[in-house]
Amino acid sequence: MLNKTKDEIENAPTPGPLFGLPLPELTALMKRLNQPAYRATQLHHALYRQRVASPDEISTLPADLRDLLKTEGYTIGLPEIVQTARSIDGTERYLIRMADGETVETVWMPDGDGGERGDGSQAAEEEEKEDQENNSIAAEQNPAAFPYRRSTICVSSQVGCAVNCQFCLTAKLGIRRNLTAGEIAGQVAAVLNRHQVALSSSRGNPTPARINLVFMGMGEPFLNYANFIAAVRLLTQMPIPESRMTVSTSGILPGILDFAKEIVRPKLAVSLNASNDQVRESIMPITRKWNIAALLEALATIPLRNREWITFEYVLLGGINDSLQHADELIALVRDMRCKINLIVWNSGPNMPFHEPPQSGVSAFQKRIMAAGIPAYIRRPRGRDIYAACGQLKRTVEQPPQLVELAPA
Ligand code: SF4
Repeated sequence: MLNKTKDEIENAPTPGPLFGLPLPELTALMKRLNQPAYRATQLHHALYRQRVASPDEISTLPADLRDLLKTEGYTIGLPEIVQTARSIDGTERYLIRMADGETVETVWMPDGDGGERGDGSQAAEEEEKEDQENNSIAAEQNPAAFPYRRSTICVSSQVGCAVNCQFCLTAKLGIRRNLTAGEIAGQVAAVLNRHQVALSSSRGNPTPARINLVFMGMGEPFLNYANFIAAVRLLTQMPIPESRMTVSTSGILPGILDFAKEIVRPKLAVSLNASNDQVRESIMPITRKWNIAALLEALATIPLRNREWITFEYVLLGGINDSLQHADELIALVRDMRCKINLIVWNSGPNMPFHEPPQSGVSAFQKRIMAAGIPAYIRRPRGRDIYAACGQLKRTVEQPPQLVELAPA
């Protein structure tokens, strides 16, 4: 018993950011500081429920303990929003800086990401447009009181990315480093704090906000698997249920096999983007390592829950993967799976050798898939004007003059 206590104390986290540490590590820290165990629970609550930005805000801890934490070099360590751009559709894109100065991009999409609902009918689009314009004006006047019903936050998992998808601007950066669990979950905390979002009900707030998370920002989450899944666990403490989270992978097989064994896990989206290996290799070189057949085999190991689907994302690139023959090949690949297809019309980027497919071709592609009994949705691109749409992240740093700068809330 004595040894166990000694080990625990020796394993206490070294000075640095507290945000990102799970309860056992906070408990070890409190033990090392000769504090009772319940102080760790109070600290945990302050970090993940209250999302405090400074030790001075932790009113449940005595002042001398807050001072001791600061003197020893412990900080809260939430990442900081350093640049903001807002789209006409209400989408906000943030440049978020980590403690070492590295930056990632995170996107806030009021009223969801548009990919999960609607039939794309004209009437629905008109209503949504009006709603967004009203929201955008309100947000401009007072971002903190922005009257959203639900929102989606798109979260980054790495600084840059090593996967090198040919249609993606993030790929141009290469990989700089993995984000820690605290830096991944911290993006969410920083954005929620900006919008003063309450996730739990209270007397003054009987209906907490409904927040969805998509791990579809910069980076490949399954190449930073341990930190990604640790972040998911932290985020469930905030609390955001894992059923409202979706992670997207380009098809990293070891990650998919680990993911299949997780008890607490988000939903899965797979960035497929082609109906055969030849086309996929040309736009996603990762296919040379794990081809489509191996990818589908790995996906079959995931025990899907009731009403759970695998989402296949398919970026339509004019003249490359958007013919009806490609649609037929895609149908043959996924026909026996419980899945849906999200069609994403290519978002143009500078010096990229692709072009947008014609609208008529996009509709024909969707109809062909739906006629085979497979749900297929055309995702409405969010934040195109601020380069926050899919595959466009990290343009901020490369071309700052094109941004609309707004003061942080
Ligand atoms: S699409 Fe995703 S996995 Fe592919 S290079 Fe871009 S960030 Fe990486």
